[in-house]
Amino acid sequence: MAVQQYDAVVIGAGAAGLMCAATAGYRGRSVLLLDHANKAGKKILMSGGGRCNFTNLNTTPDHFLSANPHFCKSALKRYSPWHFVELVERHGVEHVEKAPGQLFCAQSSKEILNLLLTECEWAGVEMRLNTPVSAIRQRGPGFSLRAANADIACDKLVIASGGLSIPTLGASPFGYQVAEQFGLPVLPTRAALVPFTLQPADKAWLSTLSGVSAEVRAQAGGVSFNEPLLITHRGLSGPAMLQVSTFWRPGEAVTVDWLPALADPLQALRQARQEQPSASLEKWLRGFFSQRLAAAWVAHFQWAGPLQHYSNEALADVAALLKGWSFKPSGTEGYRTAEVTLGGLDTDALSSRTFEVNRVPGLHFIGEVLDVTGQLGGFNFQWAWACGHAAGEAL
Ligand SMILES: Cc1cc2nc3c(=O)[nH]c(=O)nc-3n(C[C@H](O)[C@H](O)[C@H](O)COP(=O)(O)OP(=O)(O)OC[C@H]3O[C@@H](n4cnc5c(N)ncnc54)[C@H](O)[C@@H]3O)c2cc1C
Repeated sequence: MAVQQYDAVVIGAGAAGLMCAATAGYRGRSVLLLDHANKAGKKILMSGGGRCNFTNLNTTPDHFLSANPHFCKSALKRYSPWHFVELVERHGVEHVEKAPGQLFCAQSSKEILNLLLTECEWAGVEMRLNTPVSAIRQRGPGFSLRAANADIACDKLVIASGGLSIPTLGASPFGYQVAEQFGLPVLPTRAALVPFTLQPADKAWLSTLSGVSAEVRAQAGGVSFNEPLLITHRGLSGPAMLQVSTFWRPGEAVTVDWLPALADPLQALRQARQEQPSASLEKWLRGFFSQRLAAAWVAHFQWAGPLQHYSNEALADVAALLKGWSFKPSGTEGYRTAEVTLGGLDTDALSSRTFEVNRVPGLHFIGEVLDVTGQLGGFNFQWAWACGHAAGEAL
């Protein structure tokens, strides 16, 4: 069978790969976009609860974790959230700012995927799904690859196959294997933006509260976030837990301030004891917690009796627990439910302008396969757009 020749082949039709392929196509390159899955952009469809938090207007390099915190700066600067908003608006996709800076589709994340597929079509990109790549070889200044039953040759090869999170959405270690094949360093990977699982003692009382949420301040690894926490039947989730999971290390504790809006709960408790001495602690807690959460707290910590029976020391213990409850997770739910993968291809191997491997001309890596991980809030897609665009400009 004849070898099929392209200027560029992009492996992975996810967020970064779609953006890269369209950008290169518009520049007149013949581009083949391959994916082993039966559908492009599955994570885009699942994202943001089906509404895709497609960017964050407040994106700065500080929202990303990487062994080299400077690496992401160039691409983020050259393709800002406003560039993507302009694209979204050009395609008539309605959007809403759900939290400061966090932009979501007003209707459905399908619109973001359709936008990218349309851009690829307009740019003349050829896309093949259900197409696993079985072999890649360097061939003079370019590459040859075997994809499904086809022999393909290209001058430029882009690896946009993502990280390890959610294998059922197509995630695979392909990108790390290609890195290994070319002798490139891969930093240890770990599930992030992921719910915590609990030790049996914590699970016993908290799992009865499945579905309850509260605004908290959570802290792990010296970093804290004011976000909602959600109790599930498996453990603790919600934005607060997902955010700190990125900074948490196995064996460490996570600390939760359940009353972040109350600067001095001891003072508030003493005042309540003075004003309503016969009221229960549960009643006081209901001023801040849902009824179920308040009842579970007093039952678990055995805070019975009226406030007047509590000494100053006892109230100080109550206040300390509410402001600094800490637990040691038994682990996380892992890649099965994690939104992202920490670690990945060491960015030292690449140019931060073109995403080309320093030692292998023509080979580029973009997106989540790299050791660049965004916080929760639309930053990961902004990174995918920015590096997809930067690499597309360089093909
Ligand atoms: C449930 C969920 C919700 C999320 N919500 C948000 C959100 O609202 N906002 C946000 O900013 N981020 C969100 N993220 C993170 C975001 O989806 C990722 O950071 C982003 O998709 C990474 O883009 P990527 O192109 O690098 O990888 P991906 O989008 O994962 O794309 C990689 C592609 O490569 C393909 N592939 C993998 N292996 C192979 C192989 N061997 N051969 C061929 N193709 C292969 C995959 O099928 C996939 O299509 C969410 C993630 C998840 C899992």
